[in-house]
Amino acid sequence: MKNIIIFGAPGSGKGTYSDEIVTRYGMGHISTGDVLRAEIKQESELGKIAQGYISNGQLIPDELMIDILAKTYDSLPTGKGVIFDGFPRTIAQAEALKKMLAERNHEMGVMIELIVDEETLMERLLRRAQIEGRADDNEETIKKRFAVYHNQTEPLAAWFEKEGIRHTFTWEGSKDQMLANIFAFLDTLK
Ligand code: ATP
Ligand code: MG
Repeated sequence: MKNIIIFGAPGSGKGTYSDEIVTRYGMGHISTGDVLRAEIKQESELGKIAQGYISNGQLIPDELMIDILAKTYDSLPTGKGVIFDGFPRTIAQAEALKKMLAERNHEMGVMIELIVDEETLMERLLRRAQIEGRADDNEETIKKRFAVYHNQTEPLAAWFEKEGIRHTFTWEGSKDQMLANIFAFLDTLK
């Protein structure tokens, strides 16, 4: 499988669909949110820096994030492709990803954008708060994350469009339907 960039607002299902894609196509998976949460748990230097940003709903600075991403990518087998979940989130990160992959003679592959209405996103994140207890899943921080998404991340959709690799999938009320649509598209790439 080609590399896949999975893109969408907080709670849009990036992690959920990534797991399903990994199971079906046997590729690598980088979730920058999971990497950061693991660092926080270990109380590493990076974790200490990340904690403040995450609990405020803000993005970790680009230079730091780009460095983490490259290190994580180079630690994975890339032969079957990698799914990037939660990265890039800014234009600078997207440019850095493109450059990093080009330097390794790899391609960005395809971008999958998950489009979900904000009411559904909020419901999901509040439900997840009760199950997983993530520090940033409370109504106030979620609203900040939505604002950060609109201001800093959403403009990237046009960047991917220009790259000619943007593919959108819109939530219509069923996870199985969403997954079937995504798989139908990815199956054409193999
Ligand atoms: P979901 O996982 O439900 O889609 P999300 O997109 O908000 O929600 P994560 O991707 O797990 O969640 O990210 C959680 C937090 O980690 C972000 O709000 C941000 O603070 C930090 N983070 C993760 N990836 C990046 C990134 N590429 N650049 C900067 N900060 C990041
Ligand atoms: Mg996630």
